[in-house]
Amino acid sequence: MKDIVFAFKSLGLLIKKYPITLLSEILITLSSLAMTLIPIYVVQTIVTDYQAGASISTILGKIGLYLVALIGLSLIQLLLSFVTIYVARNFRVTVATMLFQKLKHIDYDFHENTTFLNNYTRSLEEGPDRIYFCAYHQITLIRTIIQSFGVFAVISQMHPYAVFYAVVIGLIFVILRYRVGKIGYQQRSIERPLYRKRNYLNRVFFLKDAMADLKTTAIEALLLKNHHLVSQELVKVYDHYALRKTIWEFLGSVLIAFIYPGVLGIVAYYAFIDLQIAAFASLTVAATTIANLISRLVNILANIQSEMIESRVPFIFLSMTSKIEGRGGQRVGDFQSLKIKHLDFGYDEKIVLHDLNMEIKQGDKIAIVGANGAGKTTLVKLLLRLYDCSKGEIVYNGEPYPSLDPSSLRKKVGAVFQNPEVYSVTIGENVLLKPVETKEEEQLVIDALKFSGLYDDVMRYEEGIQTLVTREFQIKGAIFSGGQMQKLAIARGFAQNYQLFILDEPSSSLDPLAEAKLYQNMLELGKDKTLLFISHRLSTTINCDYIYLFENGIIVEAGKHDDLMKLKGQYWAMFNSQSEKYLGGEQID
Ligand code: ADP
Repeated sequence: MKDIVFAFKSLGLLIKKYPITLLSEILITLSSLAMTLIPIYVVQTIVTDYQAGASISTILGKIGLYLVALIGLSLIQLLLSFVTIYVARNFRVTVATMLFQKLKHIDYDFHENTTFLNNYTRSLEEGPDRIYFCAYHQITLIRTIIQSFGVFAVISQMHPYAVFYAVVIGLIFVILRYRVGKIGYQQRSIERPLYRKRNYLNRVFFLKDAMADLKTTAIEALLLKNHHLVSQELVKVYDHYALRKTIWEFLGSVLIAFIYPGVLGIVAYYAFIDLQIAAFASLTVAATTIANLISRLVNILANIQSEMIESRVPFIFLSMTSKIEGRGGQRVGDFQSLKIKHLDFGYDEKIVLHDLNMEIKQGDKIAIVGANGAGKTTLVKLLLRLYDCSKGEIVYNGEPYPSLDPSSLRKKVGAVFQNPEVYSVTIGENVLLKPVETKEEEQLVIDALKFSGLYDDVMRYEEGIQTLVTREFQIKGAIFSGGQMQKLAIARGFAQNYQLFILDEPSSSLDPLAEAKLYQNMLELGKDKTLLFISHRLSTTINCDYIYLFENGIIVEAGKHDDLMKLKGQYWAMFNSQSEKYLGGEQID
């Protein structure tokens, strides 16, 4: 029953976002009430007039009047239904937007939690509909209750038992449907992770990048097997719940079928005792109406029941609190310095970074090198404040990270990762992350593409920076190689004008020569920027001001290239072994 809060929240949200709903629903309710009561009175009037010997034309006249009233009311309802449709469409978009916006306020580490991912996909996929229908059914519930009271009042003037009987049956039906709702909820909770798995597998078969593997390796058979297993699991879950649900639903419909004959029987019994033919005739209509209303009422109640259980998930998602995101903090000024002091961090129990100490000043070109798994990307995520460190601190311009507003920080400190996402928008928009509207913005995009070395490739497309990336929506879309996508992402980082710009192995898909050219270019064009290069290739490091060598989450060597070479430690060994591959095999002692 605590889910009822979510029902009220849905209704509150709908009225808050679209107050017009309130007015239109009052008008719909009043007209529905009139439309329900009119037929009952029409019958009574006709029979009474007939018994009193009124002429056919008088009776037809009255019927005509009622018909006009009913047509008028129907027209009003038709007009109001446009308001309902307008609200239904827009409210769902509003909720979807709220859910998407909430994402920015969810801490990054939640995305590693499977329960969160299940709830999150459920919220995004179903939240707008569930919240809307939860609110909408409550509105129709109120409307139907008011209509029912009108009819109850008419029937119970003479026969309260009929009302009592109808209400009791209705309540039993609600309880039955509650069970059905609960079973459905349990079923969907078990199905959700399976659907997520199946969607993933379906998606792989759409991915252009996966096509070559699918055609040439054994991965296709493995994925198909998994797809088959997940589908079988889903069938099993369905079998488990379907029978139980069907039995409860069947019992419910049998009960509902009993309302009409029961009410009619009671009405008939009392009417014939008193021999009131006019009352009997109108009460017959009332009995039909009440049976319909009650079955509608209980259906609405049952729908609310299941919708409020379902709207719990998106509401919980919307009310999630985070330790980092969306909590505000001090706005961040222009970058001068960044210090890392005795920093420790681990994703779970295991420490990934230990006792790190570093300093970066405005204009520095710093390199962090180390083997895969040494903790380099983890440090980048900490610098972007996707996580907070467990011990020690990161200090920006003398201010500790937790005191800063993360979104303001990320305007100054930004990163490009190894596997960047490119989006199906134009090249210009991919770089600028907004539409390219002015000449200055166009120039910025061009500068950024030159910085990353993609400019010449882009100019080969007829529409230049206006070319749509991917062929998802346009045959003439740009198809980029892995290296080109990395360059596009580097251009994006440049255009965002990060003052501390981190490049986390963004050149891994380039050949050594192209990579060397890229770094040279970046060092030249990014003179005034503070650049932090992360790599396990050392060709990038020679021209850097300072180099940190990571191993298993600790800094094992630090200094300028020449100093580290003189040390003849790990850096020296790595550099020599790589120079054989990349720098023509020249050994450096
Ligand atoms: P690098 O960038 O140097 O290759 P990473 O920072 O990506 O190294 O990873 C460092 C260690 O942290 C690795 O052992 C990796 O398995 C672990 N790790 C990375 N991301 C996560 C995560 N989200 N959850 C748990 N462990 C992680």
